[in-house]
Amino acid sequence: MKVLVPIKRVIDYNVKVRVKPDKSDVELTNVKMSMNPFDENALEEAIRLKEAGIATEITAISIGTPKAQETLRTALAMGADNALLILVPSENSTDIEPLAVAKLLQAVAKEIGPDLIICGKQAIDNDMNATAQMLSAVLGWSQATFVSKLDIDGSHANVTREVDGGLQRIKIKLPAVFSADLRLNEPRYASLPNIMKAKKKPIESRSASDFGIDISPRLSVVETVEPMVRKAGVKVADVEELVAKLKEVGGLANVCTFIGRNVGK
Ligand code: AMP
Repeated sequence: MKVLVPIKRVIDYNVKVRVKPDKSDVELTNVKMSMNPFDENALEEAIRLKEAGIATEITAISIGTPKAQETLRTALAMGADNALLILVPSENSTDIEPLAVAKLLQAVAKEIGPDLIICGKQAIDNDMNATAQMLSAVLGWSQATFVSKLDIDGSHANVTREVDGGLQRIKIKLPAVFSADLRLNEPRYASLPNIMKAKKKPIESRSASDFGIDISPRLSVVETVEPMVRKAGVKVADVEELVAKLKEVGGLANVCTFIGRNVGK
C-alpha cells in the first residue's frame, strides 16, 4: 500500500511573524523555515503504518522553491522512502493556492497510484485548511479530515475525527485523502545517523509547468496587518466595582451572566 504525504515548508512555528513595512506580505528574509507541524503528524502516521507492515512505500512531496529540498531531506531523515519536489516559479511559491496544490497532487497521485494521501489539516502560514478537501474532490476519493486516530482495515479505514464539541468515528473506503490533526500522534525526531543517510538520498525534482496545470493565483492579497494588540486587563476588587466598570463600557448584560454563573461559588 503506497502512501503519499504532501509536505509544506512554512515559517517555523516558534518564530514571531513580522509583517513587511509595505504590508504586502509577511517577512520571509532570514526567517527560520520548517516542516508544517501538521505535516509532521501526517508523515509520522505514514511511517507507523509502514512499521506495522501496512504501508509499503512512503513518498513525501513538496510544491515550492528549491529551498523546499531542505524540508524534504527532513522527511527522508524521519523515514520517507522517496521525495519529490515540484518547482514553481518564485512569484507563485509563497502563496501557491490550495486548488493549484490539489491539482498538482492529483497529477502525481495518478502517476504513483497511492492508496492513502495523508496531508496536514492546515498549513500554519496561510491557515487555508482546504487542500485535502479539494484534493479528494478532484480525485473523486473519500476523505477524512481532522484525523486523530487512523486504523486501516483491508480496503477501508476506520477514522476518528476531531469535530466541534467531540469526536466522530467514520468508516471510509480506500483510496482516500486524510488530513492529520495534532493529536494523531507524537512525531519522531530524525536521528543523526538518519539525517546523514538522508543527505545521500536523491530528491526527484520536476517543474510545475511539466504538468500543464494552471497554477496562477486566483486571489490577490490586499493587505497584511499585525493582529490587534490586546489592551491590558483591569483588576477589580469586588462585584460592585466590576458592575461599575462594566456600566462604563456598556457591558451590563455580561455582568448579569457573570453574576448568574458565579452565584454560590
Ligand atoms: P492548506 O490547505 O494550505 O492549509 O494546507 C493543508 C495541507 O496541504 C498541508 O498541511 C500540506 O499537507 C498540504 N499542502 C499545502 N500546500 C502545500 C505545498 N505547497 N506543498 C506540499 N503540500 C502542501
